Amino acid sequence: MQDEPLNLAFALEHAARFHGHVEIVTRQVDDGKIHRYTYADSLRRTKKLANALRKLDVQVGDRIATMAWNTFRHFEAWYAIAGQGAICHTVNPRLFEQQIEFIINHAEDSILFLDAQFVPMLEQLQEKLPSIKHYIVLTDEAHMPTTTLPKTVAYETLIQDEPDEFDWPTFPEETPSSLCYTSGTTGNPKGVIYTHRSNFLHSYAINCKDVIGLAATDTVLKVVPMFHANSWGFAYACPMVGSKLVLPGSQLDGESLYELLDEEQVTISAAVPTVWNMLLAHLSDSDRQLPYLQEVFVGGSAVPRRVVESFDNEYEVTVVHAWGMTEMSPIGTICRLKPFMKQFDYQRQVDIRLKQGTPVFGVAMKIVDDDGNELPRDGLAVGRLLVKGPWIVKRYYKEPDNAVDDGSWFDTGDIATIDEYGYMQITDRAKDLIKSGGEWISSVDLENAAMGHPQVALAAVIGKFHPKWEERPLLVVKPIDNSTVSASELFDYLTDKVAKWWLPDDIAFVDDIPLTATGKISKVQLREQFHDYELPEARVSS
Ligand code: ADP
Repeated sequence: MQDEPLNLAFALEHAARFHGHVEIVTRQVDDGKIHRYTYADSLRRTKKLANALRKLDVQVGDRIATMAWNTFRHFEAWYAIAGQGAICHTVNPRLFEQQIEFIINHAEDSILFLDAQFVPMLEQLQEKLPSIKHYIVLTDEAHMPTTTLPKTVAYETLIQDEPDEFDWPTFPEETPSSLCYTSGTTGNPKGVIYTHRSNFLHSYAINCKDVIGLAATDTVLKVVPMFHANSWGFAYACPMVGSKLVLPGSQLDGESLYELLDEEQVTISAAVPTVWNMLLAHLSDSDRQLPYLQEVFVGGSAVPRRVVESFDNEYEVTVVHAWGMTEMSPIGTICRLKPFMKQFDYQRQVDIRLKQGTPVFGVAMKIVDDDGNELPRDGLAVGRLLVKGPWIVKRYYKEPDNAVDDGSWFDTGDIATIDEYGYMQITDRAKDLIKSGGEWISSVDLENAAMGHPQVALAAVIGKFHPKWEERPLLVVKPIDNSTVSASELFDYLTDKVAKWWLPDDIAFVDDIPLTATGKISKVQLREQFHDYELPEARVSS
């Protein structure tokens, strides 16, 4: 066979040549207006940017950061950076400033592409980011903010005089294409490097019919942000088959998404449950339907039963549950019924569809006990979920090996069962994290912040159900003897110590917090103790 090293730029080249008239539609972040162009236009502009980056002396292996919503310019940046062998580092703007500072410095990014709304944040941080030599604002001169950032240029100005021809260089397919940091249970985020090869294989895998299976007949609303978990692979999978691509910019509320779903006649979309909660609330308030939408993919957190049933019964849209991780590019499993299950009654089918699903071809998966022994696939045994495969992280960026067991399995930090038909179901999380609207909150960091208060003897944080965000933190506090500290005093105390959206939804005072034999807080017992507790917002909705 021929030795043709894989380059992700081939996906856009292919789309431009064979689906050149197909549209990419963006809700612009500057003014909310709709921008339309085609894959052919996109490739031309991507090549202009590739030339501009080369002039800025970008070399193979350089890290170039983006801090941006899903837009056509961000899409072009992905391809122009990776296509020439540099590494596109997607920075999550929802992280708090110290984390952003850490990851940009850790990656040693040399250029930062950013949406105009993030300019003030970067002005605050710029002196602490010595590696960044150029700031490129993803806008035109008309919308360019005045800024104190050095060496800053509007994207359109940067590319305007560049030629739209560019020969993608040849490099080994194991060359890194992109970098995404994921929050650890404590301390600093960790980087996951994707390669051209891993992204190629992952994109082929998710385009199988029984996985996501995009087609040229699809219009895809890509809600999952491009700064999240490799954008679930959609930025490559869509052009590979020529699906029409709809990019929602920064407006992710129910009404804005509904408008795009309806006006662009979207057939497929993908997002975390919180997005679907907001859309369903909007649909029911406004008495609207979804005549074009066929399938929605839900992942990032477990899909709630009410989301599946509501889409099924009120809108005739099929919800497909998926599970994955930033470390897995990210798709690991997908939940579709096997043919014989179509005979089951509806509730039994939904029970299965709420599981995280069966592995995508290319991902090996097993559950093990604490000694690493594989547990039976009987739907009952509960164990640590391990995975391996060609699009699963080997080690974190600039970190020693993270592999466990026989050296090749990756420990997901999820606790799961696997049933006789291969369906995996997550039952718990070994990592001490809370997932709120698709974003991580570190329980440990929040606990440490609370423990800094002089009247707090011990603090523990657990996640509790929230009707909009799925999970929110509850802070459990054991005060020191004779303490007079109140909940409002503690809230005030935490306000400047953690990001606003990390603040707990409630604070419960207790006489004692259960500890394990080794003196650590026993989250298992604490969760048991607060089993029937409901957060204020959950009480209102129930
Ligand atoms: P993503 O954005 O794809 O969810 P992250 O790396 O942020 O990637 O988070 C991965 C973790 O999120 C998983 O290890 C798991 O704990 C949780 N998760 C992802 N998908 C699901 C799901 N469908 N059900 C339950 N938990 C999930």
